[in-house]
Amino acid sequence: MSEGLVPKKTRRLFFALWPSEQERQDLTSVQANMSTKVEGRAVRADTMHLTLYFLGSVETDRVNALLALADGLRCAPFSIEFDRYIYWRKPQIVSVQNSKPVPQLMDLYQQLETGLITSGFITKTAKFSPHVTLFRKVKNFLDGDLMPVLHWQVQRFCLVESNTLPTGAVYTVLSEWPLLAQAAMD
Ligand code: ATP
Ligand code: MG
Repeated sequence: MSEGLVPKKTRRLFFALWPSEQERQDLTSVQANMSTKVEGRAVRADTMHLTLYFLGSVETDRVNALLALADGLRCAPFSIEFDRYIYWRKPQIVSVQNSKPVPQLMDLYQQLETGLITSGFITKTAKFSPHVTLFRKVKNFLDGDLMPVLHWQVQRFCLVESNTLPTGAVYTVLSEWPLLAQAAMD
């Protein structure tokens, strides 16, 4: 039997915000402009995302419980302004970040975390620092302001599976949930 036909016992999963095509193109332009100054590995455009919650290995028969908890989250659409790029020495990444807080994003994260704890997927809380990674394996870099800034109009969040191939990580969006304005929720 080929390996692809063997049912997987576990899946490597994470919740994320996925950029639209335009938002992805904007990120790619920023990355291209920085690439002459950054010594590192540019993240492939098709893998760019903002991780909400990384779960790691999840038993396949628990995925339905994960879908159910995400069904129960309620959040209105929001926008994020990415206005700076930051180097993190320990994970060796350069990412774009927002300096103005986005309360709805933090609320979505909090709801997700509460649901994950209640359903037994995680046992303790984790700090959330929203970022979109553009470069990995960077030895050094100076932080700076992004000009022009980037905007995301966030309309949905996703559950994503990560598979590591010899050519790098491949992400597959397994399911997505729309963010709904208050009126649509009533
Ligand atoms: P690879 O690990 O194969 O190099 P990757 O890091 O892109 O590729 P994953 O490790 O599956 O892929 O990670 C998926 C997403 O979750 C990425 O955004 C990654 O930064 C984030 N992530 C991975 N591990 C953790 C962790 N322990 N804590 C928080 N976020 C994590
Ligand atoms: Mg990783």
